[in-house]
Amino acid sequence: MEGAARINNGTCDIAINYAGGLHHAKKSEASGFCYLNDIVLAIIELLRVHPRVLYIDTDVHHGDGVEEAFYTTDRVMTCSFHKFGEFFPGTGNLNDIGIGKGKYHAVNVPLRDGIDDASYRSIFEPIISKIIEWYQPSAIVLQCGGDSLSGDRLGPFNLSMRGHANCVRFVRSFNLPMMVVGGGGYTIRNVARTWAFETGLCNNVILPKELPYNGYYEYYAPTYELDVRSSNMNNANSPEYLDRILTNVLSNLDNTKHSPSVQMNEVPASWNFDDLLAEDEENDLEAIDTKGGSQQARNKIIQPENEFYDEEDADRGEKNIDIQSRNGNSNGNGNSKANGKNTVAEVPAITINSEQKVHESTATNNENSNVTLTDEEMNEIDKLNDEVSEEV
Ligand SMILES: [Zn+2]
Repeated sequence: MEGAARINNGTCDIAINYAGGLHHAKKSEASGFCYLNDIVLAIIELLRVHPRVLYIDTDVHHGDGVEEAFYTTDRVMTCSFHKFGEFFPGTGNLNDIGIGKGKYHAVNVPLRDGIDDASYRSIFEPIISKIIEWYQPSAIVLQCGGDSLSGDRLGPFNLSMRGHANCVRFVRSFNLPMMVVGGGGYTIRNVARTWAFETGLCNNVILPKELPYNGYYEYYAPTYELDVRSSNMNNANSPEYLDRILTNVLSNLDNTKHSPSVQMNEVPASWNFDDLLAEDEENDLEAIDTKGGSQQARNKIIQPENEFYDEEDADRGEKNIDIQSRNGNSNGNGNSKANGKNTVAEVPAITINSEQKVHESTATNNENSNVTLTDEEMNEIDKLNDEVSEEV
C-alpha cells in the first residue's frame, strides 16, 4: 500500500515488495497460500491517481484473485501467463476475457509444461507490447512469481533466471511507474537468486554471476553462482500452439477501446493518506534529531517574542548533519524540492505534544521554547534532562 502511495505521489518510480504478490486471495476467501490480496489493494490505491493500470502476472499459477477483482472494469487490464490444464487454481482459460465494461480487459495466456526462455519471450513480448500500445496504462504492477522457474518444486515450467528476468527488463523498458511484487516460488534458493537479479535490473545493474560469500553460501551449492539454469525437459508448447494463442489474444485486443477514459463514478473513494505522510514526517523528525536537532524540529517551536535568541546556539549540535543529502532540504525552511522527491513540505504541521518530542525540542532549545507543558510533562523533561546530562 505504501509502495502504491509513493508511486502516486511521485516519491518513487519503481516500488518493490517481494513479500507481496498474493494473487490468489479473493475478497472474502483465502486461497493458494494467499490470505489477503495485496495486489488488489495496491491497484485500488493506484487507481486514485492513475486512469488505467496494467497488471502482469508471470507466476506459474493463474492470477485469479486479481483478475476476479477487476473482471468487470476497464480501469484495470489483467494479463496472466500461467500453466493451464489440471493445475491449481484451474481458471485462466484463453476465452476468459472479462465481462461488461471489463470485456477484453482480462488477458489469459494458458501454457503447457516445460516452456523455455525463447518460447516464453516469443509470446510475452508481443502481447505486452500490444497491450501497452493499445491500453496505454499509466502504471504497471508486475507479479514476479518465482515458481515459473526451472526446477521449481510445484511449477512445471523451464525458465532460466535470465528468461524470467527478461519479463522485468522488458516491462521496465517502457519507463512507466511500476510496482514489482513477488508471488509463488518453492525452490527457495532459485527464487532468491532470481529476485536478486531482477532487483538489479530494476536499478539498471546487471549483477555478476559470482555470489559473494554470505551466511547462506552453502545453499547455493554446487555451482555457487547466481544463475538458475533451465533443464533439458520437454517443451509441450509447440510454436503452432503459441501462435494460435498469440493470434487469439491480439485479435481480442483489437476489440478494446483505445485507452478508455476514466468514468468518474468508478473512481474509488479517497483515502486519507495525510496520516501516513504525517507519520513519515514524524519519523524524519526523530531520525534527524539524533545529533541534537533538525530544521524540521526547530520549525515546530514557537519563538517567544520577548526572548533574545542566539541563532548560533540554536544551531549547536546539528552542524554535522547532512540534511541536504538526506532529503534535499537545504534552504532552511523545509520547502526545497532539490531532488523532486521531498513531500515533507506539503504535509500539515504536527503538534508537538508527545513527551518524546518535547524532550527533543527542549534538549536543543532549552531556554527558547515556550511550548506549554503540564507539571507532569515538566517532571518528565527534568528527568530526561538529568539522564542526558548523566550520559554527557
Ligand atoms: Zn504460483
